[in-house]
Amino acid sequence: MQAPSLGGVSVPRGNGRTVVRLRQGSSLNDFADKIDANPASLVTVLFHLGEMATATQSLDEDTFGTLAAELGYVIEMVSAEEEDRELLGSFDIDLDAELEAEGDDDLVARPPVVTVMGHVDHGKTKLLDAIRSTDVVAGEAGGITQHIGAYQVHAMHEGVERALTFIDTPGHEAFTAMRARGAQVTDIAILVVAADDGVMPQTIEALNHAQSANVPIVVAVNKVDREGANPAKIRQQLTEYNLVAEEYGGDTMFVDISALKRTGIDELLEAVLLTADAALDMRANPDKDARGVAIEANLDKGRGAVATVLVQSGTLHVGDAIVAGTAHGRVRAMLDEHGETLTEAGPARPVQVLGLSSVPSAGDTFLVAPDERTARQIAEKRESAERAALLAKRRKRISLEDFTQALQQGKVETLNLVLKGDVSGAVEALEDALLKIDVGEEVDLRVIHRGVGAITQNDVNLATVDNAIIIGFNVKLAPRVEELADREGVDVRFYSVIYQAIDDVEAALKGMLKPEYEEVQLGSAEVREVFRSSKFGNIAGSIVRSGEIRRNTKARVLRKGKLVADNLTIESLKRFKDDATEVREGYECGIGLGSYNDLQVEDVIETFEMREKPRK
Ligand code: GDP
Repeated sequence: MQAPSLGGVSVPRGNGRTVVRLRQGSSLNDFADKIDANPASLVTVLFHLGEMATATQSLDEDTFGTLAAELGYVIEMVSAEEEDRELLGSFDIDLDAELEAEGDDDLVARPPVVTVMGHVDHGKTKLLDAIRSTDVVAGEAGGITQHIGAYQVHAMHEGVERALTFIDTPGHEAFTAMRARGAQVTDIAILVVAADDGVMPQTIEALNHAQSANVPIVVAVNKVDREGANPAKIRQQLTEYNLVAEEYGGDTMFVDISALKRTGIDELLEAVLLTADAALDMRANPDKDARGVAIEANLDKGRGAVATVLVQSGTLHVGDAIVAGTAHGRVRAMLDEHGETLTEAGPARPVQVLGLSSVPSAGDTFLVAPDERTARQIAEKRESAERAALLAKRRKRISLEDFTQALQQGKVETLNLVLKGDVSGAVEALEDALLKIDVGEEVDLRVIHRGVGAITQNDVNLATVDNAIIIGFNVKLAPRVEELADREGVDVRFYSVIYQAIDDVEAALKGMLKPEYEEVQLGSAEVREVFRSSKFGNIAGSIVRSGEIRRNTKARVLRKGKLVADNLTIESLKRFKDDATEVREGYECGIGLGSYNDLQVEDVIETFEMREKPRK
């Protein structure tokens, strides 16, 4: 049913109960798709409801709710995770109910899962090597020989032998990539800071990531063997970032180590266990089908798809049917970090799994399915959901233009930026100038990362996680990164004049950078004859003179070159007896302008739409 609406546009209406399900991050384009409407008319309706949005901008539930209520629909927002949960539900797999049903008796202590992060060259790799070699039971197993993406070591803690699982990819890139896909694997982060160098940009970045993921941090003050090492200075520097050492009355454990000389490693592991025991409930039910996350995967010439997975709960067995992301199969064999085969793997155990049909991505969740057929069907359904989501309009996270609006609605308080420039001087100058903008009380400007060189995949991943905008000064996107930014909806802006970048950011912060609309003419038609109809109002028998005439678009009427009526809508459009959605140049058609009846022969009907004006 079409009915006039706010702003004089027509939109198909619901009956007040018609449910429209939208994925989180959807835009007016997506909504328009679902109700078979013209996105431009939804922009207009929303505008008349007092909100300005572009057709591609991602909107929140409230905004959709207001719009939907106006049009007779009920909105249900679903996240990708919820969609997947429903998909699993259709196979009788309910992970939430499973967790809820678990009582204290079912839960058994499990090792903590630890990630090592910090600035480049501060010793992350060396530390992971050192930890690997301190394993108190590694001797018997022959030492850790395989790099499978994660390993488990054992340490003595208060007289008890305890296991710890380490993610064996140093740096926060892996951490960020996994979090960007919604997977939280890490229980505890070790932040490595070189005592002879101090807190550096990536130190701050790493701690920001850990803190925003609510992951407790243990600080390893490394390279204390070096001349010029100043461990006290590190403690002092980090207090600025809410990491206050226990010695100074805080609750963060700092341990002085030398990854090279392998000193302080036992104390570090002890601190990790103490922190984990104090902050976290590290228990899981081992007596059920395994659930977990894929840590890394590759295609091996001889063995096919090889994936390292971390079991998070349950126990994985050889022979289990599993699905990891969109890969599925049966566990043909399992190997641990010593290259030994295993028949089963319990909570917090990383294992290499052979037998998957394809290579899952890092951060994909995996689970054991009742049988191989179910595993395959889940994988196939996920694959088609992914394809559909990709085809649906790319989602926009936040752009400088939306920021103002989000700010006014109290939805954001911080503008996060990633700065990249061609030379470090320019980046510093830009950062200095940006941080000097007087932004008032209610908004914060945070530069979450800065660097020299092209905008890389990691920059985009960071921006994805922290909803940041990337500013490139005299730099380009690295190859293939544009596609990623596009897919993730990250706003990347390029500048070659510092002041322009500053002006735009300042305008966004001060609420002045609204999207600009411009009128775009779509077509014009000349009235040849006017048919009077008591039922439909007057119909203008016309010939399209330029462009095309489309139903539901805005229109105005000109008589001898003068405007006689504005703000009309092409309410009906016919080719002979049939309804048409558009009629092209040179063709005849019947145009109805709703209640506007004052048409005369030789009048010109012009149609147009409002489009967002691209910024330079
Ligand atoms: P990453 O980039 O954080 O993984 O750092 P690496 O582990 O690769 O270490 C960077 C450099 O610092 C290497 O040359 C290491 O040998 C050196 N290094 C790491 N830890 C120590 C340490 O405790 N003492 C000293 N003197 N050098 C270290």
